[in-house]
Amino acid sequence: MSDITVRRVDFGYFVRPAQETGTGYPRVEPCLGYLVSHPQGLLVFDTGMGSQADVDAHYHPRRIGFAAALAAAGARPGDLELAANCHLHFDHCGGNPLLGQIPVFVQETELKAARQTQDYTLPELIEGCRFELVSGEAELLPGIRLMPTPGHTAGHQSLIVRRADGTVIVAGQSHDTATQYAADQLAWRARQDDHDGPLPSIPDWIDALQRLDPRMIYFAHDRSAWTP
Ligand SMILES: [Zn+2]
Repeated sequence: MSDITVRRVDFGYFVRPAQETGTGYPRVEPCLGYLVSHPQGLLVFDTGMGSQADVDAHYHPRRIGFAAALAAAGARPGDLELAANCHLHFDHCGGNPLLGQIPVFVQETELKAARQTQDYTLPELIEGCRFELVSGEAELLPGIRLMPTPGHTAGHQSLIVRRADGTVIVAGQSHDTATQYAADQLAWRARQDDHDGPLPSIPDWIDALQRLDPRMIYFAHDRSAWTP
């Protein structure tokens, strides 16, 4: 599996307004996707930011378009065989209408929420691509599988990549930052140690991720990665 590689795709950045950051200050956040190169095909995980007047006025995005972002990572849309979205907010599926008819793997609960919840996403982003619905874990290619990591949305999922030198996880927006993941991971460890607490509550899937012994975890809105 050593020939499975994970590359970052830079889709630009946006400014999260002060009322959404919890700090009282606005925060500039990157919008990152990932290309996974496998002997059986190239996969993209998340496709960048969609565009719409109200969204642009709120987040002031500076987009790098889907084809340009892929080109900077050394790929073309026509090279893709598979796609997946961690979830379907506008900043994770902006390039989906450009995916043609390749399969796009999302959790069934996520697509249902995106279609049925007002202002969940930009509706045009989730029409016209070929969604393949998943409920729970699913292997996409040997060594590459999806795992549900709910929290940010109920249908959020992460991508697990098994390489010969260890497991790499693309966790999307399971956490906003690698630092937040690190805090949850340490709380998980304290539980393993039977620490007498009190300990913060953490997502129950942290245990499943950590049992994979990941050597790297990447995120959608942080250029930093978690490492053990
Ligand atoms: Zn996001």
